[in-house]
Amino acid sequence: MEKLGLLYQGKAKKMYATDDPELLWVEYLNQATAGNGAKKEQIAGKAELNNRITALVFDELKKRGIDSHLVRQISPTEQIVRKMTMFPLEIVQRNVAAGSFSKRLGVTEGTPLSEPVLEFYYKSDPLNDPFINDDDAVVLGVANREDLKEISALARTINEKLTELFASIDVLLVDFKIEMGKTSDGKILLADEITPDTCRLWDTRKAAGDDGAVKDGDIERLDKDIFRKDLGSIIPAYEEILHRLEGLAQSH
Ligand code: ADP
Ligand code: UDP
Repeated sequence: MEKLGLLYQGKAKKMYATDDPELLWVEYLNQATAGNGAKKEQIAGKAELNNRITALVFDELKKRGIDSHLVRQISPTEQIVRKMTMFPLEIVQRNVAAGSFSKRLGVTEGTPLSEPVLEFYYKSDPLNDPFINDDDAVVLGVANREDLKEISALARTINEKLTELFASIDVLLVDFKIEMGKTSDGKILLADEITPDTCRLWDTRKAAGDDGAVKDGDIERLDKDIFRKDLGSIIPAYEEILHRLEGLAQSH
């Protein structure tokens, strides 16, 4: 396969065309950003970790019946994916209060939610990815009702499978963001990435107290909050996630 021109330079990845119009060449970057690019750093090793983690998570989801855009990993920092027409949506699922949910609604970080919460954000850098509801998405032309129904059902199933998957490696899936698109034959598929950049992952080997509750000072974060909150290097945490996922992949 041949790598052709750069189609899009994002904050975390570069997307290239290939000699197959149905496929894209993805290059993961070492760049880390937070606050819509307000905080930005180059972190050696991040590209490789996120490329490998995404490939492993998508492989594990496939084993559990969830298809994605991933075709194959082709180098430590690159993968080939199916080209999709993306919905300009950040699809967020939450199981435990954290981040913008805690801030906006005054719910203490770490509070388990009585049921998973599904949220949509409109992917727009100039607007700072605003929170939107289904009606907003329809009138903005982001997705029609039928697609939104399918996207929501798929997101909830992905949350169930991912929660189980991470629980099996002693990680609490607090919340995460995914993206979806449509293939040229009209199928809605999971796309983009699933990494510690896009999930909140708490280590349950260390986080639970005697009563099983997670207390603020006890949280052992294995995700990008380490970068967002200036808590140190993200690399050992991302390596820990990769190693546990590798162990899971080898176990079946
Ligand atoms: P951002 O755009 O937020 O800076 P990235 O650096 O991760 O994020 O850029 C990757 C871009 O590629 C995103 O805009 C994402 O929506 C898009 N994308 C991900 N998977 C696919 C795909 N299979 N086909 C087309 N576009 C994709
Ligand atoms: N998230 C993401 N990209 C974004 C915004 C959020 O991957 O541009 C992820 C984030 O890592 C977390 C979840 O989506 O796992 C919910 O994020 P939240 O709304 O709490 O936003 P934050 O306060 O992290 O910006």
